[in-house]
Amino acid sequence: MRVYFDNAATTPLSEEVTATMLEAMRQLYGNPSSIHAEGRKVRAAIEQARKKVARYLGASIGEIFFTSGGTESNNMALKGAVRDLGIQRIITSPTEHPCVLNPLANLENTGTKIEMVTIDQKGRVDFEDLERLLEKENGKTMVSLMHANNEIGTLIDLDRLSELCHSQGALLHSDTVQTIGHIPIDVSKTKIHFLSGSAHKFHGPKGTGFIYINNEIALKPFIEGGSQERNMRAGTENIYGITGLAKALELACENREERRRHVEELRACFIRQLEENFEDIQFNGDYDGSCLPKTLSVSFPPSPRSELLVLNLDIAGISASGGSACSSGAETGSHVLDAIKTDPSRKAVRFSFSHYNTKEEIDFVLEKLKTMVALKTVAAK
Ligand code: PLP
Repeated sequence: MRVYFDNAATTPLSEEVTATMLEAMRQLYGNPSSIHAEGRKVRAAIEQARKKVARYLGASIGEIFFTSGGTESNNMALKGAVRDLGIQRIITSPTEHPCVLNPLANLENTGTKIEMVTIDQKGRVDFEDLERLLEKENGKTMVSLMHANNEIGTLIDLDRLSELCHSQGALLHSDTVQTIGHIPIDVSKTKIHFLSGSAHKFHGPKGTGFIYINNEIALKPFIEGGSQERNMRAGTENIYGITGLAKALELACENREERRRHVEELRACFIRQLEENFEDIQFNGDYDGSCLPKTLSVSFPPSPRSELLVLNLDIAGISASGGSACSSGAETGSHVLDAIKTDPSRKAVRFSFSHYNTKEEIDFVLEKLKTMVALKTVAAK
């Protein structure tokens, strides 16, 4: 038996999405820029997909641009805002994803002012500090704050954030990679300038995503070449990825409540049993407050037995993650756990769920964990 509890890193492709993509691979071979029938057919499929994504976000069609994923979308927003919109300062947080923090570090080297808002021990943004930063006269400003953290699941109130940015005349970018398809977002009600999505976080294909750019914003091309994606991102479109993304988003949004309930139940059951059975368990982030239901970061007390926990879980047939999945595959320290000042001697494991997971899998993981970490003395009898 293998149990996949690493759905914040990526999700398995759903059967319906696979079928949609296979069909596109068989049928949609024309170049969407060609004017003949084969080309027009592919163009129509791309525009159908765009329409679907726009509809689920409350956006207009012209505000959605397909990209290669969350990393590209975030780069596009941050670098584009500085290059084309005269943004002089970006306020962000130390718990953002590296595909936000690294571009920002480079922008800082070339003169953009980067300011970090204070976050608390649950990873929540201190709105008073944000307001203070915004009130300081410091040039044309954009705020870049993620909707949900990928390691600990802490959520920000996007409406409150949007209102604050709006009242202070700042642009707003939100890395919504962890929440698109999971938490409703309606840009016709919540004013946001940029947000990013990635299909592989909601059972779509890897290497495909999108950026929402509010139609008041005019950026120059991010990738130069042909006039694809209305000149914003040149290159023949990833038609199979795009059709897969739209199908996956449709399934995620149409079944959102049902999936959320299921995942919430699994998570609550896991939390309860961890607390009942194991010694000195802690949870990182705002786990009992405003958080993403799929993500649970568990902190085990220091012990030689928990040292290689993620590896031992893998050997026992369980995929989870220590901190976040690093591109080299190595487990490095977590900048998120450092930023929320967790005890570095404890062992953090991120378990993240999807609607494909079951209660039996939760029981299986708990049984395996019992052989790996310290049990409560009463439970161990
Ligand atoms: N932002 C967050 C919060 C993420 O969790 C991820 C993926 O791990 C990304 C951005 C990057 O997305 P992608 O893998 O599509 O480039």
